[in-house]
Amino acid sequence: MKFIETKGARLPALGFGTWPLIGADGARTVRTAIDVGYRHIDTAQLYGNEADVGKGIKDSQVPRGELWVTTKLSRDHLGAADVARSTDESLRKLGLDYLDLLLIHWPSKTVSLAETLAAMTRLRDSGKTRFIGVSNFTTGLLDEAVRLADILCNQVEYHPFLDQRAVLGATRKHGLFLTAYSPVARGQVPNDKTLQGIGKKYGKTAAQVALRWLMEQDNVAAIPKAGSREHMKANIDIFDFALAPEDRAAIDALRGDGRIVDIAGWSPEWDR
Ligand code: NAP
Repeated sequence: MKFIETKGARLPALGFGTWPLIGADGARTVRTAIDVGYRHIDTAQLYGNEADVGKGIKDSQVPRGELWVTTKLSRDHLGAADVARSTDESLRKLGLDYLDLLLIHWPSKTVSLAETLAAMTRLRDSGKTRFIGVSNFTTGLLDEAVRLADILCNQVEYHPFLDQRAVLGATRKHGLFLTAYSPVARGQVPNDKTLQGIGKKYGKTAAQVALRWLMEQDNVAAIPKAGSREHMKANIDIFDFALAPEDRAAIDALRGDGRIVDIAGWSPEWDR
């Protein structure tokens, strides 16, 4: 496993994404992921699955201190009072005393960033979350956020078909880490001929190649979601090979405008 170590945090760089897992099946899937070896779990208020994720965590019987748990504040919970109240509710649903990381899920167009980050900082100071951060923030929004608060991370879409050099550069400049969501591009990666071809050289699949490519980048974490034990195991079985420079370059060359998650009314003006 690769670990990210920055600003006093230490977490497994490869985590497990839990959207759209839900209900008893969702809880079982989270427990299976922990059994398989995942120790970093990503959820969000918006996913409606915090209680199921919490059940999966509880059933795993893995000590709390060995897990890294991230959740995210919904867009309608960014006012100061809502930050405090909804985080308490997230903790209750998850069955946890504290979060490792609390993120702003999407930037707000109505509530000031200063208000939200001040409320989140108070939660961190009170011990309800160890770290705070943001998601779907552009370079400009990130500059603003680091002026207002001590944040740890920016979670954004990142995979071989999306060029994120600008936001990754800004993330590193500020000493933060970037968590890549949709890291296997929701199934596009496994079907890509170039990635499949590279994988053949190493006895690995296209998904494993793409995840390895992310893991080989400084300050980058990734949170693939997988429904089956087979995919879960494959996605974490990427720490026994290294990409040759020419293969890394071939994957770099795929990067383009392949954004998948773009929500009208929510998305900021993305960096180009
Ligand atoms: P993803 O992880 O790139 O793709 C998940 C899809 O890929 C599933 O259909 C899964 O199938 C398939 N898959 C996974 N591993 C595979 C493998 N080894 N071989 C073949 N297929 C494989 O996309 P995502 O779910 O959008 O993103 C991951 C996580 O990021 C989410 O669960 C969520 O926690 C987070 N996220 C955050 C935001 C945000 O705004 N911050 C937005 C989107 C997502 P199976 O289920 O059948 O295994």
